[in-house]
Amino acid sequence: MRKLELHWKILIGMVLGILFGFLMTGFEWGKDFVTNWISPFGTIFIKLLKLIAIPLILASLIKGISDLKDISKFRNIGLRTIGIYIGTTTVAIILGLVLVNILQPGNGISEETIAKLTETYATDSGVTAKLEEATRQKESGPLKFLEDMVPDNAVSALGNNQLMLQVIFFTIFMGISLLLIGEERAKPLKSFFDSLNDVVLKMVDLIMLTAPYAVFALLANVVVSSSDPEILLALLKYAGVVIAGLLLMIVFYCILVSVFAKKNPFWFLKELSPAQLLAFSTSSSAATLPVTMERVEEHIGVDKEVSSFVLPVGATINMDGTSLYQGVAAVFIAQALSFDLPLGAQLTIVLTALLASIGTAAVPGAGMVMLVIVLESVGFPADKYAVGLALIFAVDRPLDMLRTVINVTGDATVSTIVAKSVGKLGDPKVKNWDDHYEEVK
Ligand code: ASP
Repeated sequence: MRKLELHWKILIGMVLGILFGFLMTGFEWGKDFVTNWISPFGTIFIKLLKLIAIPLILASLIKGISDLKDISKFRNIGLRTIGIYIGTTTVAIILGLVLVNILQPGNGISEETIAKLTETYATDSGVTAKLEEATRQKESGPLKFLEDMVPDNAVSALGNNQLMLQVIFFTIFMGISLLLIGEERAKPLKSFFDSLNDVVLKMVDLIMLTAPYAVFALLANVVVSSSDPEILLALLKYAGVVIAGLLLMIVFYCILVSVFAKKNPFWFLKELSPAQLLAFSTSSSAATLPVTMERVEEHIGVDKEVSSFVLPVGATINMDGTSLYQGVAAVFIAQALSFDLPLGAQLTIVLTALLASIGTAAVPGAGMVMLVIVLESVGFPADKYAVGLALIFAVDRPLDMLRTVINVTGDATVSTIVAKSVGKLGDPKVKNWDDHYEEVK
């Protein structure tokens, strides 16, 4: 009998998790049962993925850079990557703004719904926590992100996966120095990292064996924690605009992959799908990163020289789904609260959403924190921030799940086209899931 491919197993886990979550909401004890007895398995899974993220970035980036043999190649890949990242994110924001201006989801929303949402969420701890976080972000100067990128202690940088850019900085620095000391002297360290890289990729495989069960737990928990369906319905049009934008981004990536990488986009999406399904279930591109790297390198055929740099950097700074959502949400809030946003203000959104998405942490719900910065840039009154966030809070989690899928797909797309452009897109190493997982077992 033909074995089910991993993405089907994960999909089945997700569907069963959702159904189980709905079933449990029917019992008085259901929510507590899921929170206490089911949800920890999802949390453990996310922790395992985060656990291997730093060793994976370290080993893979050092291997990638030292394999380059020539530093100018690295500069070439780096510049292309950042340029394409900025390009795709700008497309995403403009797409979101066009859709929200044409479809005007905020203009149809009744006073009554606004009052209900504000009353329910403006003082909700989720909203107030996001506002506090946003205030902290705002207090930092314009070059703070550069300052933050440079660690003053290698061990503490490597010991904290909130500091991904510091890890990337340290690793690139070390990789370049390794290149400069010459092949002979670099050999022992290089083989150490080569071997570490193989070990960590094997750890990803092992963790992924539990993915179908973990997504069951994660989604059951999302369902029991979600808001009242009536409130979700009131925000349907707004959510619909965000979702339409995100779907169009998938079409855009498919075009990029077929035009610039000369690959079949359906094949590309299929090979990437386990990472996309995990992005959806975890709402975190950082937690998904090890799987994205494994899929892109082993299944899509991108050389480590490219993926080891492009993907970790992308997980941290390239968030097309988040930036699209920030543009749509800012205009939706303005429409609903009758705050005028002329064309000039909308152009400001293009720039601030670009910067805000770069500054957004790759963790659940971070996009909403940075939304406050976008609102501020267009002169939205500070005393209305809580009302603005309250309006969209109820549907934020499902939209977060979807925008994370786009964030991850965007990173994978860019790594594939950068690889093609520098002649580093080869044949996938693993052609068949079953062979691969048989081997793991
Ligand atoms: N959850 C998103 C991510 O990790 C960030 C966000 O938009 O909240 O990619």
